[in-house]
Amino acid sequence: MTTIGFLGLGRMGAPMAANLLKAGHKLLVHDVSAEAVAALVAQGATAAGSAAALGEQCQVVFTSLPTPAIVREAVLGADGICSTKAPAILCDLSTSGPQLAVELASALPQVACFDAPVSGGIKGAEQATISIMVGGPSTEYEANLRSLLEAIGKPFYMGETPGAGQTMKLVNNLLGAVAIGVTAEGMAFGIKQGLDPAKMIEVLNQSTGINSATRDKWPRSVLPRTFDFGFAAALSLKDTRLLMDEAQAAGVPLPLGQVVQDYLERTLVREGPAADFTAIAKVVEAAAGLDPER
Ligand code: NAD
Repeated sequence: MTTIGFLGLGRMGAPMAANLLKAGHKLLVHDVSAEAVAALVAQGATAAGSAAALGEQCQVVFTSLPTPAIVREAVLGADGICSTKAPAILCDLSTSGPQLAVELASALPQVACFDAPVSGGIKGAEQATISIMVGGPSTEYEANLRSLLEAIGKPFYMGETPGAGQTMKLVNNLLGAVAIGVTAEGMAFGIKQGLDPAKMIEVLNQSTGINSATRDKWPRSVLPRTFDFGFAAALSLKDTRLLMDEAQAAGVPLPLGQVVQDYLERTLVREGPAADFTAIAKVVEAAAGLDPER
């Protein structure tokens, strides 16, 4: 049986790892948080003790980590996954940008490297309904990776080019983040003019303005004023910056992306480093002269 390694057991990594366990796979796990490791061990995983131990003992290693810099260090660093023995397959489920995917593939020619960022949030990760956008070698994908990914979501193979999955994910995140920004703007205008926020969302979800923010984020986290959807504004800003850098290098102007980046930066200033990305609504409300703490 293939031994699978999983590094990074956070909001997304923990449920994805749990779904690999539920599918009957033998799983070795690691995270800098001992609590995160203990939660997976309680479900049947084995604690690897280090990132390097994952490379030593596993044929396939998945990563789900916050930023490209953390992924790079966790894979190529002195104590990283590939420091003593590299796995046959390395699959990065994080949103870490196409450039890192290219860098990992060229630094590890002996490893089948895949970039496979995901979309669908914590709920999607729990229910194994996330979309998974995959770039990497097609033969290895079909032979050894696709069936594993099907245990955690719905994989879409985007091509051999390293970073193909990451590029698709950045496109998706632009649309998702712009939906939050424009929904916050429309809602702030309507509220200022005296409309009821819950009624507005009900109408939008039956009208052409429907989007992923009106459908999921407002009902779950903005209308109840909990701002706890489960995706950190800091991570959303990281994604938007990755997109803007790539788009600039490609000569593609993305003015809507620039607006969203600005909203996210202001959200972090206003709400602090732990803010959820749905707190963009508060920034827009404050600019409209509404009281976001109402
Ligand atoms: P998170 O902060 O909840 O989890 C990250 C985990 O990595 C934490 O458990 C942390 O302890 C661990 N970690 C950090 N550095 C480490 C290291 N050096 N070695 C081992 N473990 C380390 O983040 P998340 O929300 O689960 O996001 C993970 C990735 O998935 C990010 O790239 C994010 O952009 C992407 N993503 C998140 C969502 C979401 O809704 N949360 C959706 C799609 C994609």
